[in-house]
Amino acid sequence: MNTVSEMFGCMVFDDKVMRERLPKETYKAMQKTIQDGRKLDISVATVVANAMKDWAIEKGATHFTHWFQPLTGVTAEKHDGFICPSNDGKIIMEFSGKELVKGEPDASSFPSGGLRSTFEARGYTAWDPTAYAFIKDDTLCIPTAFCSYGGEALDKKTPLLRSMEVINKQAMRVLKLFGNENVTSVKTTVGPEQEYFLIPRELFDLRKDLIYTGRTLFGAKPPKGQELDDHYFGQIKPRVKAYMKELDEELWKLGILAKTEHNEVAPSQHELAPIFATTNIATDHNQLTMEIMQKVAKKHDLVCLLHEKPFAGVNGSGKHNNWSISTNTGINLLEPGETPYENAQFLLFLCAVIKAVDEYQDMLRISVASAGNDHRLGANEAPPAIVSMFIGDELAEILDAIESEKEYDNKEKSLMKIGVHTLPRFSKDSTDRNRTSPFAFTSNKFEFRMLGSASSVAGPNIVLNTAVAEELEKFADILENAEDFETALNDLIKKTIKEHKRIIFNGNGYDDSWLEEAERRGLLNLKTTPDALPYFISQKNIDLFTKHKVFSEAEIRSRYEISLESYCKIINIEALTMVDMVKKDILPAVSSYGRELADIALTKKSLLADMDCSYEEETAAKECALTGELYKNLKILEDAVAKSEKISDMSELSFFCKDEIIPAMNALRSAADELESITSAEFWPYPSYGDLLFGVR
Ligand code: ADP
Ligand code: MG
Repeated sequence: MNTVSEMFGCMVFDDKVMRERLPKETYKAMQKTIQDGRKLDISVATVVANAMKDWAIEKGATHFTHWFQPLTGVTAEKHDGFICPSNDGKIIMEFSGKELVKGEPDASSFPSGGLRSTFEARGYTAWDPTAYAFIKDDTLCIPTAFCSYGGEALDKKTPLLRSMEVINKQAMRVLKLFGNENVTSVKTTVGPEQEYFLIPRELFDLRKDLIYTGRTLFGAKPPKGQELDDHYFGQIKPRVKAYMKELDEELWKLGILAKTEHNEVAPSQHELAPIFATTNIATDHNQLTMEIMQKVAKKHDLVCLLHEKPFAGVNGSGKHNNWSISTNTGINLLEPGETPYENAQFLLFLCAVIKAVDEYQDMLRISVASAGNDHRLGANEAPPAIVSMFIGDELAEILDAIESEKEYDNKEKSLMKIGVHTLPRFSKDSTDRNRTSPFAFTSNKFEFRMLGSASSVAGPNIVLNTAVAEELEKFADILENAEDFETALNDLIKKTIKEHKRIIFNGNGYDDSWLEEAERRGLLNLKTTPDALPYFISQKNIDLFTKHKVFSEAEIRSRYEISLESYCKIINIEALTMVDMVKKDILPAVSSYGRELADIALTKKSLLADMDCSYEEETAAKECALTGELYKNLKILEDAVAKSEKISDMSELSFFCKDEIIPAMNALRSAADELESITSAEFWPYPSYGDLLFGVR
C-alpha cells in the first residue's frame, strides 16, 4: 500500500465497498437505512452479512465482534470465530444475517446502575447500520447499540442516536418555516480535538500510580515545567514524529480523518485533531482513536496517557468538542450565510443554542463531570466549572442591537432588522481568540471545551442535541402558529436574547472577578463531580430527556448511580494506591536514607570528633521529621478510607470522598513530595517528574 488515498479506509466496509460488493437492490436498501433511518429487512441483512464476511476474510479477518460502548468508558467486544463445522469434518466460514443484526453478550458484568439484576443477566447488542463496520486486529467489528432485555439502554450509542433523531425532527420543522424545500434531514457534526501525553514505557512501568490510576499521585515539582512555553507547537521530536506517523496511518486505515498533530502546552503533551464527521461516527472514531493511540504507543516503547491530569503543576489534557448542525444538502446552520433570510435562520439557530446552554448549563456541566476532570475545571488551565458562552464582540454587538432596537454600527448605521438586513461577515479571528471560554462560537460551530481527555464525547453531545432540540421545538411551536412570521421571528429572537444573555460572557474566564459576576448573574458554579451530579435527577432534566424519549426516567437514575459509583471507586483506588506506595516504597526508602545519613555522620565523627557533619545531620533531622509527618498523614488517610467503607449511600459517599478522602490524599502527597525534594535520587523509589516529562528524547 503506497499512497494515503489507497490506505484511507481500507479496513472499513464503507459506501464504496458496499457499492462494489452488494447487489443493487441490497445497496439501495442499505442507503435508505443509513440516510433515512429505515428499518432493515432480515433478508437484506443476510446478504450484507455474507458480503461483509467475504470482504473481511480477504483482509485476513478470522473473527467478528459486536463492538459497543458500555457505561464503563471504554469499548467492549466479544470475539466469535467465523468458523463453522461442515459435514465432511472440515470447517466453513460463516456469518449470518442474524449474527450481524443481533448479539447476546452476557450483560451482567457491565454497569447498569440497577437496571438489570444479575438473574436477568441477558442484554443484547443491535447493529447500527449508520456506522460502518471495520476490521481491527483481524476481527470484523460491527458497531452496535447495547440494551438490556427490557430495552433500556446500557450504552452510550443508543441515547446518542435517539438525540440525533430528536434534533433532526425539530430542526426540520424550523427549516420548513424558512422554506427549505430540498432539505430532507439534519445531522449534528462533531470534530473532537484530543490531547494526550507520551512517556517512556520503562518509566511508566516503575510507577504504581500510573499503572493503577493513570495519573501520578506523588511527584515533586521538577526544575523545569511548562513555564518557558517552549513546547507548544514546538518542534516534534523524531521519536514522537515516528509515533504520530504510524498513528495517522492506523487511523486512516479505519477511515478516521486524523488531520493535525502538534505539541501542546505541557512537556510531552500532544494533540490530535480529526476532520469532523456526523456525531455518532465521530463518537465511534474518537473511541477508536483513543484505543489506537495507546496501542501504537506500546509499539514505540511509549505509553500514551489519556488521563485528564497525569501530572500536577503542568496542564492536564482535555478534549474540545467542535459541534455544529448541517443539512443533508450541505448547509451548515451555524454559518451566518449571505442573505438576510439566511442570516435570520442563522440567528434563530444561534438563539436556540444560547437558550439551550443557559437552561441546561447543569446538564452540560454534568456531561463532563468525572473524578479526573475535577482536577482541571476551574484550575486556570481549562475553562472554569461555570458554563458560559463566548460569541465574540462583533456578534455580541449585533445581538445587543437587536435586543435594544439600537442602531447597529455597520456602514449604513441602520437598525438591525431580522429578515431585512444582512449580518456583516465575521472575521474568523474575532470569534476564535478566547481560550478561556467553556463554550465558544468559532465562526461556524461551537467549541465545547470542558471535556476531559479520557471521556467519550457521547455524553456531552446527547445533552447538546437534546437541549437544542427542545428549544427548536418551542420555537417551531410559536412560529408555526404565528400570524405574521417575520414579526413573530423578530420578537422571538429579541425575547430569547433578553432572557438568556446572562450566559454570554466574552471576557477572561480565569479572572476571579468572573466568579463574582457569574454568581450575580445566577449562573451555576458546580465545582466538583459530587456537587454537579445531583442536578442530573432534577425534575427539569428528567422532563427534558423523558419528553424527547432520549432517556427513560429509569435510565437517567441508573446513569446517575453509575456516575456516582464510578467517582467513588476512582477515589478509593487512588487512596489505596497511595497507601500502598507510601507503606511499601516511600516510607522504607526515606527511613533508610535517614539512617544512611545518620550512619555517615556517626562514622565521620568517630574519626574526628569535630568533623563538619552539618549536611548529614540537618538533612537527617529534616528527613526524620517529614517521615514522621508522612506516617501520621498515612494513618489519617487509612482512617478515612476505613470510614468510607461503612457508608452505603452513594451520594453521601461521594461527598465524603470529596471532603475527607481527597484532602487526606493531598496532605499525604504534600509530605511525600517534600521528602522527595531532599532525598537522594538513589534512594527515591520512583522515576521523578523530570524523568517522566522530559524522558522522551
Ligand atoms: P481551527 O481551530 O484552527 O480554526 P478548524 O476550525 O478547522 O480549526 O477545526 C477545529 C476542529 O473543528 C477540527 O477538528 C474540525 O474538524 C472541527 N470542525 C470544523 N468544522 C466543523 C463543523 N462544521 N462541525 C463540527 N466540527 C467542525
Ligand atoms: Mg486545542
